[in-house]
Amino acid sequence: MTVHLVGAGPGDPGLITVRGLELVRGCDVLVHDRLVAEELVAEAPGDALVVARDGLGQDEVNRLLVELGRAGLAVVRLKGGDPFVFGRGGEEALALQHAGIPYDVVPGITSAVAAPAAAGIPVTHRGVASAFLVVSGHDEKTFSSAIHQLQPNGVTVVVLMGLGRSEAIACQLIDRGWSRGTPAAIVADASRPQQQVWRGTLDDLARETAEYDGDGPGTLVIGDVVAVGMRVAESVEPKVAGLHRPRT
Ligand code: SAH
Repeated sequence: MTVHLVGAGPGDPGLITVRGLELVRGCDVLVHDRLVAEELVAEAPGDALVVARDGLGQDEVNRLLVELGRAGLAVVRLKGGDPFVFGRGGEEALALQHAGIPYDVVPGITSAVAAPAAAGIPVTHRGVASAFLVVSGHDEKTFSSAIHQLQPNGVTVVVLMGLGRSEAIACQLIDRGWSRGTPAAIVADASRPQQQVWRGTLDDLARETAEYDGDGPGTLVIGDVVAVGMRVAESVEPKVAGLHRPRT
């Protein structure tokens, strides 16, 4: 049996792939992260073992996947967004590979693109931005070496895991020559009913005047695309036919 590393999408349970959903519905064991929608966890068969990853270290998760794979079970490792975008999916894949356990990867829609889109922000737009950088904001050094290569205001910067450091991130960009008036947004709980969007400028971020409620995951978007002004309908209902079908 194969261990499937599956992306769950950004939050709305309707945004998992068809293949991902089929695998969840057919699994023996589901190992999922905190960010995964509970509606998707509920799609696992009633007799499947469901393991929440919370509280387990990465080594323990790797070992668990290897053991479950070795036991010949159909294992789905379900992760928020895409497994290989800051999801440690690569580490799990290598652990399985080293142990000789067959595995595959089912990509997911990453919040790096879906969170801006949910707020009507295209990460690229003709004449406005022809590239985007996805960077972790978690660590000052990593962030600063990633933006060091960039021409100020040339590309869209999408920062994951950066909400707690948004002020420092804005200051770093301004220090690198980005204009204070560069449009910026925070999209929190994207694609979920509680989604919140804040819009302003780099200067506002640097002065810590960005305001929104809630403690869900959030993505920072910085660049002229934020001001493109698309209005998307805020639809949050899962669209996959039968996603909530009763179990038989
Ligand atoms: N593998 C995931 C990212 C994991 S890192 C993916 O591809 O989307 C976790 C970070 O992703 C969070 O700190 C936040 O920046 C972002 N994120 C995840 N879900 C989100 C959501 N629903 N809305 C906004 N940002 C989200």
